[in-house]
Amino acid sequence: MPKAPVRYNAVRLEPEETVLFRIDDGSRISLPIFREVGSSKELVCCDLCALFISLTHTRHTSYLQNHRGQDQCNREATRLRRETINQETAASFRALFTEPAQMDAPGVYYVFYISRILIKYYYFPL
Ligand SMILES: [Zn+2]
Repeated sequence: MPKAPVRYNAVRLEPEETVLFRIDDGSRISLPIFREVGSSKELVCCDLCALFISLTHTRHTSYLQNHRGQDQCNREATRLRRETINQETAASFRALFTEPAQMDAPGVYYVFYISRILIKYYYFPL
């Protein structure tokens, strides 16, 4: 069973501060620094999976270096993609089917589920 990632509640530093991070192809990206709410822990947001990863106390990105593109990162990135697709699918279905004003009126009643997201569709009348 893979270890569940630590999920931080964090806010961006104000005024904004950034840290440079070198990605695999050698180019550098500038990442905004966040601070965990209720502590002084500084974090950056992984550009692949959107998890918050701690900086070292000298603001070095070695934890991100170890995380980025590895198992946990890939799993989170996949989950994030799936979640985004689910939300987009649900939104387009809701746009297709509008709910009637009176839900308790007699009629045929359909309920759709897509990937655990409940998408309701009520059909009237009978
Ligand atoms: Zn990641």
